[in-house]
Amino acid sequence: MHDAFIHDVVIAGAGPVGLFLACELRLAGIAVVVLERTADPHAPLKQLPFGMRGLSLPTIDAFHRRGLLQALTTQRPSTEEAPPHWKLQPRAAGGHFAGIQFHRDRIDDSRWPWRLPGPVEPPLTTDMQHIETVLAARAEALGVQLMRGVDVDGVAQSDDAVTISAAGRTLRARWLVACDGGRSTVRKAAGFTFAGTEPEFTGYSADLTIAEPNPLTPGRHYTAAGMYTYQRPGIVAMADFDGGACHRMREITREHVQSVLRRVSGTDVSVTALQLAATWTDRAFQAEAYRKGRVLLAGDAAHVHSPLGGQGLNLGLGDAMNLGWKLAATIRGDAPPGLLDSYHAERHPLGAQVLDWSRAQVAVMRPGPGSRALAAILAELIDTRDGAAYVAERVWGVSLRYALGATHPLAGRSAPEFSFNDGSRLGEHLRSGRGVLVDFSATAALREIAGQHHRLDYLAADAADMLGLAALLVRPDGIVAWAGADAGDLPELGQAAGRWFSRKR
Ligand SMILES: Cc1cc2nc3c(=O)[nH]c(=O)nc-3n(C[C@H](O)[C@H](O)[C@H](O)COP(=O)(O)OP(=O)(O)OC[C@H]3O[C@@H](n4cnc5c(N)ncnc54)[C@H](O)[C@@H]3O)c2cc1C
Repeated sequence: MHDAFIHDVVIAGAGPVGLFLACELRLAGIAVVVLERTADPHAPLKQLPFGMRGLSLPTIDAFHRRGLLQALTTQRPSTEEAPPHWKLQPRAAGGHFAGIQFHRDRIDDSRWPWRLPGPVEPPLTTDMQHIETVLAARAEALGVQLMRGVDVDGVAQSDDAVTISAAGRTLRARWLVACDGGRSTVRKAAGFTFAGTEPEFTGYSADLTIAEPNPLTPGRHYTAAGMYTYQRPGIVAMADFDGGACHRMREITREHVQSVLRRVSGTDVSVTALQLAATWTDRAFQAEAYRKGRVLLAGDAAHVHSPLGGQGLNLGLGDAMNLGWKLAATIRGDAPPGLLDSYHAERHPLGAQVLDWSRAQVAVMRPGPGSRALAAILAELIDTRDGAAYVAERVWGVSLRYALGATHPLAGRSAPEFSFNDGSRLGEHLRSGRGVLVDFSATAALREIAGQHHRLDYLAADAADMLGLAALLVRPDGIVAWAGADAGDLPELGQAAGRWFSRKR
């Protein structure tokens, strides 16, 4: 079937990143079609315990800023029945680096002067199924056209359109965004260069029945052959340093899992049944460019790395939050010059950092006395206030800052979640997907500047804690484009407004 109509945007993949991006585009007034390979959005691997995902601050902020945080937190599946091993410890864990936990009681958040507490603080965990359910409901409410059971299998682009072949039909679009995961068909078909480092291990997540007596001790263990975590009654994760050889073997059998578990744990454990198993690796690859003509990449389609420390979903959702409003403005024709290019410029360095964070963890996890000695030193460092704050900044995303060139130390960071004296919070003022110029100084010239730009709201505000600011300019993705202690610095503010929002004629 040939579709003569040209869509504004087609998104390949209705995983969390594709769905979030579709919502962002619709919110900004753009028609979106999402093509998803699988017919059924439900899958056991998306559900607890294997589907568990830890959400970072930028992700929590993104859901809050779009009015989705309540749905995400209130109806989420509970881990009460089978809590993961780190929830059973006396000290509350904030997350980990290579399995070395940092603890909340070590974190001194006075080190983060530009943060104000949000409605929910990390670590927040839920499962993939729930995240996708919340986003799919939102996409449907916004009018996104979601087509399930449609596998994208070919892409060709010209100067003014992209032709997409999918399940025997052909669609044309002005823009195509690949959100089709780590093995992205679109990325390959469109000829993006994907470069990085090959895996050192095969990771396993498995639900097993283990015979009694069971020699495994709950918790995470590093051994002469790798690493395993065990959670009663039979939830096991393992890293087997085989160079990734067993990833995606045709069939993961009970016998195979038993032999890997025996080797990695150094026990003679007997696995009597295998309910569910999946493999993954620490392969760390990233696209050299996130855009090629009219095709863009986001999420795992743009970068893959090990799931250690829970970063990939957060990184991908950050891509979607960053890209949505920029692509929408480009399509509407009201984007300032260079706006779409800033997507790669801002997100690619962050992706590279996350890949390195993952590689550094693998170096600490390698079997052998050198890595164990390094891990012991890191464990001591991470249990200091400085060490815990450093790891929390990276894992929770507190350190995220784009190099925007503006002078104030808040510029480029996520906007503080101000509680205004009228009872509202900053995040609520971003739900429209527009930018906001927050004015604590009641300066008429600021209202005028906001009024001169498309999709920029003006908010005269008062707050008990204004962090010493007179005003701040917040982009639609919640990033501070400009901040000032003195509202008189109008040239710099005007410049920042013109960089992110087009001027009305
Ligand atoms: C064991 C494990 C634990 C993890 N834990 C965490 C964590 O705690 N925190 C975290 O941030 N990240 C975590 N991650 C990583 C996270 O799951 C991924 O980074 C995230 O799912 C990426 O989202 P995505 O939407 O880009 O891709 P995906 O979730 O892979 O979604 C891609 C979608 O595209 C569809 N698709 C694929 N090909 C096509 C095609 N040709 N045509 C149409 N549709 C297609 C797929 O069916 C799928 O629905 C973990 C990963 C694993 C494996």
